[in-house]
Amino acid sequence: MRFGVNKRVPWLKFGVVGVIVFFGFLVFRGTFRYFSGEKGTVIPRTPMLSQVKVPERVFRGDLNGKKLVALTFDDGPYSETTPRLLDILKEKGAVATFFELGMRAKDNTEITKRVFEEGHEVGSHTMYHQDLIELSNEAVEGDIKEANAVFEEILGIKPKITRVPYGNSNQFIREHVKTPLIYWSVDTKDWETKDTNKVVEETMKATSDGAIILYHDIYGSTVDAIPIVIDQLRDQGYEFVTVSELAELRGVRLENGEVYTKFEP
Ligand SMILES: [Zn+2]
Repeated sequence: MRFGVNKRVPWLKFGVVGVIVFFGFLVFRGTFRYFSGEKGTVIPRTPMLSQVKVPERVFRGDLNGKKLVALTFDDGPYSETTPRLLDILKEKGAVATFFELGMRAKDNTEITKRVFEEGHEVGSHTMYHQDLIELSNEAVEGDIKEANAVFEEILGIKPKITRVPYGNSNQFIREHVKTPLIYWSVDTKDWETKDTNKVVEETMKATSDGAIILYHDIYGSTVDAIPIVIDQLRDQGYEFVTVSELAELRGVRLENGEVYTKFEP
């Protein structure tokens, strides 16, 4: 006997459709919850880092009631200075954000991997450190794509944040970077003074809760300043987080093409 679903028992058809719709909804809901991170997680993590398996942080500390600050390092990685900086950060139990140049990352893939694996955030500082506002639109797109490809090849994912060289951007650049643009609220001018004491002084003078501090990890004088900076800021009640963590902890949802200079409480 042929069992006709269509005519003889129409309720069965509705039943089958109902079950499919119900399970489909469950799968969709689960997928949505998974990707939106809605799993009851209370430990803030860098969105970029939560997508891949990274070793446990050396130290995360209790961030409750702490003043927060993001140390950021541009223009590396540089073999003469970046590994030493990473040793210092590890010893001090502090995390930072590195805006690396694609061309330098390409020549120092092991350092870039180490930066990432030790819990720091890696952002793009473009491929060749050209002043993007001086370039043609095609050249801008080309540079951004080339840098992203380099980081994706080394780390398995594209950078989630970008810092444009010299802080120069226009509407076309902001639209085509396709990540949030991270500027800074404290300029230590370490590239100009190349003086450890001045770098410490500038940092302590200008830092406030939620600050993003600009350094360059290609200068020994800057690296020498960092352990002093970390100790002095900790004495004032500061703790160190990556840029993405700082935004998350301050309840800011980073948007592509938007410029951010700090995340105040
Ligand atoms: Zn730079």
